[in-house]
Amino acid sequence: MSRFLSEKFSALTPYTPGEQPQNRKFIKLNTNESPFPPSKKAVECANREAERLQLYSDPECRALTEKLAESLGVKASELLLTNGSDEILNFAFMAFCDDKTHAAFPDITYGFYPVFAELNRIPYVEIPLKDDFTINVSDYCGIAKTVFIANPNAPTGIALSLAEIEEILKSNPDNIVVVDEAYVDFGAESCVSLISKYDNLLVTQTFSKSRSMAGARLGFGVACQALIQDLNTIKYSTNPYNVNRMTMAAGVGVLEDEEYTRCNCRIIEENREFTKNELERLGFECLESKANFIFAKHPKASGKMLYETLKEKGILIRHFDKPRICEYNRITIGTKEQMQALIGALEEIL
Ligand code: PMP
Repeated sequence: MSRFLSEKFSALTPYTPGEQPQNRKFIKLNTNESPFPPSKKAVECANREAERLQLYSDPECRALTEKLAESLGVKASELLLTNGSDEILNFAFMAFCDDKTHAAFPDITYGFYPVFAELNRIPYVEIPLKDDFTINVSDYCGIAKTVFIANPNAPTGIALSLAEIEEILKSNPDNIVVVDEAYVDFGAESCVSLISKYDNLLVTQTFSKSRSMAGARLGFGVACQALIQDLNTIKYSTNPYNVNRMTMAAGVGVLEDEEYTRCNCRIIEENREFTKNELERLGFECLESKANFIFAKHPKASGKMLYETLKEKGILIRHFDKPRICEYNRITIGTKEQMQALIGALEEIL
């Protein structure tokens, strides 16, 4: 730390992203990326747009917003595109939390929530998941705080039903509920359809996972028009050109190729089922995942040892040091061949 860093950030512990090794070739099952390349249409559109990079991007993201609105069945005014969904989550902390309205989220969830809260100096509570790692819905009812729930949750993969989300929304009419649906396309129920019924709902999603565009950084929020206006106030006060030209064009391309996305999601779901069965055959306990990853532990092998030994063998998975989950690892679902390689390596280790 230099002597110039503002005191307000001196105690800030930044988010630790999963490893992105640049030299050795790993089977990468650690950051929930898609194992499939982006849609060819997305690549073609981005390539064409590269020729216009001397110009700023459209701050209103018009073409992409209209296309996405059509695909989701919402109005363009109910959407905001951002630089990954991390950006809209940060906007939500900035817009809807403060000294008076604190934030609330589970103790085991996406590690960026406490970082965004601390960055914006927002007091927060971490509500313990139940022993089986499910969310106790009543903990969030009438809570008088801005609620952040990843659905499916990360790193557990466990999803709440639409009815459970609605219970939380109904019981907090004067507070915002943010439902982070980064992993919703792999078998969970989206609550986008509820935005017309609840003016306190913000749903966030991403192009990083099901749409194979993690490196392009494209996410979005869906909510009633008034909430989107609030979030735009933050966007236009930080970075009006938050989505670059090539990403915007790629986004339009992938939305013209929705069959490709759907097909990839179904393959991931099949591979998840295969992997879960194989892991259980080897003695692992797996949580019930609706995401593109599985959270698993072995009664006889420590989480850290498995992570380290797999890394030596060229397979990266995600290990968290947090006491409650340190015996677990989060394993991204890849291609069938990658999952077979993982199971083979685990058989050797065990
Ligand atoms: N929410 C959750 C639960 C995540 O795991 C991630 C991915 N790290 C994100 C949001 C953000 O993803 P992105 O910024 O790539 O859209």
